[in-house]
Amino acid sequence: MDKYIPVIGLEIHVELKTKSKMFCQCTADYFGKEPNTNTCPVCLGMPGALPVPNKKAIEWTALIGRALACKINRVSKFDRKHYFYPDLPKGYQISQYDQPIAIRGSLKITKSVPVHPAGGIKTFRITRVHLEEDTGKLLHVGSDTLVDFNRSGVPLVEIVTEPDFDNTEDVKVFLEELHTIIRYLGVSDADMEKGSMRMEPNISVKKITSTKKQDTNISQNSNDQQRFRTQLRQGYDGRASQYDKLPNYKVEVKNINSFNYVKKAIDYEIERQVDLLENGETPMQETRGYDEKKGITYSQRSKEEAHDYRYFPEPDIPPMTFSKEYIEAINIPELPQEKVNKYVRLGLKINDAFIITRDKVLNDRFEKIILKIKQQDNVKVTDVSNFIINKKETASLTEEELYRKIKEFRKPKEIDEKEFDTSIKRLIEVNKKAVEDYKKGKVNALMFLVGQVMREMKGKADPKLVKDKLIQILNSKS
Ligand code: ADP
Ligand code: MG
Ligand code: ZN
Repeated sequence: MDKYIPVIGLEIHVELKTKSKMFCQCTADYFGKEPNTNTCPVCLGMPGALPVPNKKAIEWTALIGRALACKINRVSKFDRKHYFYPDLPKGYQISQYDQPIAIRGSLKITKSVPVHPAGGIKTFRITRVHLEEDTGKLLHVGSDTLVDFNRSGVPLVEIVTEPDFDNTEDVKVFLEELHTIIRYLGVSDADMEKGSMRMEPNISVKKITSTKKQDTNISQNSNDQQRFRTQLRQGYDGRASQYDKLPNYKVEVKNINSFNYVKKAIDYEIERQVDLLENGETPMQETRGYDEKKGITYSQRSKEEAHDYRYFPEPDIPPMTFSKEYIEAINIPELPQEKVNKYVRLGLKINDAFIITRDKVLNDRFEKIILKIKQQDNVKVTDVSNFIINKKETASLTEEELYRKIKEFRKPKEIDEKEFDTSIKRLIEVNKKAVEDYKKGKVNALMFLVGQVMREMKGKADPKLVKDKLIQILNSKS
């Protein structure tokens, strides 16, 4: 019987939240603006308009690269990528081709959170991180198509992975981790609903006949530095044919904006391609779209090759050089995975540590509160995570208020001794039967009395204390 192994590589686009666009002074915060009010000759591609690169965008791309353990190229440049589409007024997109800002990185995912009974850590290779400009946006109104150029020229980072994935569960966890990292870096909202993070999976299926051993070159998830080096020596041109032992076709599914849809689109593609292979056909190399409502992919265009884009160096922008000092000075904030490890050392369960690091806002809150912990308050780090994770009703409290609440919770309950005594004595009077039973040796009777006292004290008393006190009084009375 034949066996089929999915081969999946990812391209992820992230819009940077810089103040201005990539090559002009228009605001990069275009969302919700009146169409075509946020444009200028540069981002409209008027002849003669000169692009001036956004320093912050370059810095942030290098930061993303470093956070993904990439090497930052000492010399990097922009290239023109030519194609015709109504959302691209210049007829070319300023992008990066053979000298991207960052190359050869990796990202680890942890699969020990509850959704992954398998457990373990997997590493996926990052091919490159480059910087480009976003395009305009097409709006379909009735039978008309309108173009809004407000988004044109917004800084866009593209992250490309090696075809290291062989299942969609890993893809999803990887994308979630990447999303979290981007948010921690503070360089993008990575808001998928607004389209500031968009994903493009590339899928092929490799057929393996049972007589052959499974091809170890697939999804070994090792840091294949060797291949990277060879690739670099040959001059990276990013075509699938460069990878040996991979299927000689791939299908790219464009522009998906949810992790679940990415998963569904890939699952659909795997099935479609396996069906074709079963029938002795080879799937076509092409670009497809994903129809969320029907849950299917559909053909858009047969895939263009790099030479179709007529890439050439952008003549209006000199190459960028990054000094060693510049690269070393890039300051990567503490990333979620490091935080998970740190919290586990502080006593959190790994699942809680995971939950408390997923959301940047929630995590900031957690960190601020644990800084308030004072020894004499008797508060533990796990109290803070428990409150944040399990007591959702405390979400509206300020950090100060929440800490006070936790402190209150930890404070030994002070009870009025006189009130305590009176209430015990009264209950002994009222519950003569239970007292009798206790004296006859019925343990349940004592527990009943403890319950009565606790109720009377409205839960303020420590049950252990109540029990001891009861035993003491009852025994002295006999
Ligand atoms: P292109 O230049 O057509 O965009 P690249 O070689 O740059 O192609 O690869 C784009 C993405 O496709 C990368 O994420 C890469 O890992 C992935 N990829 C390459 N070959 C395959 C394949 N045979 N099957 C699935 N994905 C692939
Ligand atoms: Mg591509
Ligand atoms: Zn502009």
